[in-house]
Amino acid sequence: MKGIVYKSTGSWYHVKTEDGTFIECRIKGKFRIKGIKSTNPISVGDLVEFDLETSADVHTGLIHTIAERKNYIVRKSVNLSKQIHIIASNIDQVFLMVTINNPVTTTSFIDRFLVTAEAYGIKTVIVFNKIDTFDDEALDEQLYLQHTYTQIGYECLRASASERKGLDAIKEKMIGKVSMFSGHSGVGKSTLINAIEPTLNLKTAVISEQHQQGQHTTTFAEMFDLSFDAQIIDTPGIRGFGIVDMEKQEVGNYFPEFFALKNDCKFNNCLHREEPHCAVKDALDNDQIAWSRYRSYTQILDGDDEHYRSDIYADGKGEV
Ligand code: GDP
Ligand code: ZN
Repeated sequence: MKGIVYKSTGSWYHVKTEDGTFIECRIKGKFRIKGIKSTNPISVGDLVEFDLETSADVHTGLIHTIAERKNYIVRKSVNLSKQIHIIASNIDQVFLMVTINNPVTTTSFIDRFLVTAEAYGIKTVIVFNKIDTFDDEALDEQLYLQHTYTQIGYECLRASASERKGLDAIKEKMIGKVSMFSGHSGVGKSTLINAIEPTLNLKTAVISEQHQQGQHTTTFAEMFDLSFDAQIIDTPGIRGFGIVDMEKQEVGNYFPEFFALKNDCKFNNCLHREEPHCAVKDALDNDQIAWSRYRSYTQILDGDDEHYRSDIYADGKGEV
């Protein structure tokens, strides 16, 4: 039988089968996936195959195969620093929720998030929330950011979760897909998700309150079916993707507008800094690349990221 992992609790996996029923599954023997040193062999979002076992009228499953992952997000294991913990896999898209004020979402934060999502191979949709609170200045700023990111190729939406504006466009994008919601604490993730699906009571809010009290919470991701043929993966306690460990050479590949110009740089290993005849610097001088993007790029290259605590670690896109 085939199914998708919705939740994992220790050694048991809550698997939804093709006919919509849930079966508790375990893993057959020692299960290792080539190339990944992770504490958990299977994560939420995995497509698995299992054998049904029945004893005393109780059905359980024994997982023997896991399908190749389209992508996955990880964090460093708490105990074994060399190992990673796979939080979730096969994510179709992430909605990055951004607010201009209250809290302020900086372009550094946005760009760092986008770079990580690119490295993971996950599509990002930017949602500017709290548009109901905008004064002229905030509106200018938001429209400028929307213009900047739309030009690069990122889809941007505007919403007011509390006034239920812009929800239909978000729902439409979610149909038939597995989505995640990210962004700083307080940007309105819970409000938005509750407005989209009032019966869904995600743990996000509760957990982040605990975080503020300095308690450590373990992350248990969980997948939820929504009423309109869409899934959400909730990752309590995780607000961003953290930072992906990557080579300096790689960073520019995850800025799509830099990547597009890369072949026009004189040196094929150009870091777009001091090198002569750099197409990225030329584009910057001609206002074809936003300064804020270039600044974020150099901050990442310089490892100037102390205040972006590295929650999650990834070895790039990683082969399964
Ligand atoms: P989360 O931490 O990202 O889940 O954020 P919450 O959903 O808990 O929202 C944080 C605060 O912002 C709450 O007081 C919400 O009522 C408020 N909020 C959320 N969305 C909006 C919005 O679109 N407009 C306004 N004015 N307030 C909002
Ligand atoms: Zn260059």
